[in-house]
Amino acid sequence: MMSKTSKELLEQFRIQCKARGLSITPQRTAIYEALIGSEDHPRTEDIYNRVKAAFPDMSIDTVYRTLCLFAEIGFVRLVEGYGEAKRYDPDMECHHHFRCMRCGRILDFKEPRFDALEVPQQFKQTCAVSSIKVVLEGVCEQCLQKSVEP
Ligand SMILES: [Zn+2]
Ligand SMILES: [Zn+2]
Repeated sequence: MMSKTSKELLEQFRIQCKARGLSITPQRTAIYEALIGSEDHPRTEDIYNRVKAAFPDMSIDTVYRTLCLFAEIGFVRLVEGYGEAKRYDPDMECHHHFRCMRCGRILDFKEPRFDALEVPQQFKQTCAVSSIKVVLEGVCEQCLQKSVEP
């Protein structure tokens, strides 16, 4: 869960856009709002489906490019991927993921012990590591329940 309210996030979004000389179009605002209203780490397609009623003329390509731009600027984060469709994470605070290998759900969690992990020596010396994230993989509660039903 994000600690900032969507009102605060939208305000930040406007300030950041202005600071970078990006025009604040209704489309961009709608895409950003759809993002921060999502807790499912949406794909481009999901965001497109959530805004297309309000902007029937907008193409999925526009959504794709806008999301790439947002990721570049730091409005959203890309979820670590495995060669599947890109997924976006509006929660910019340090958190970790549980990923269900059956239904693809990605659940957020916080764990201070994981935040405190140290970069292994070999990478410390040779690479610039900017973040450490822990990904738990397995089967989620919902899928487990489904599999025990008769
Ligand atoms: Zn699942
Ligand atoms: Zn997340």
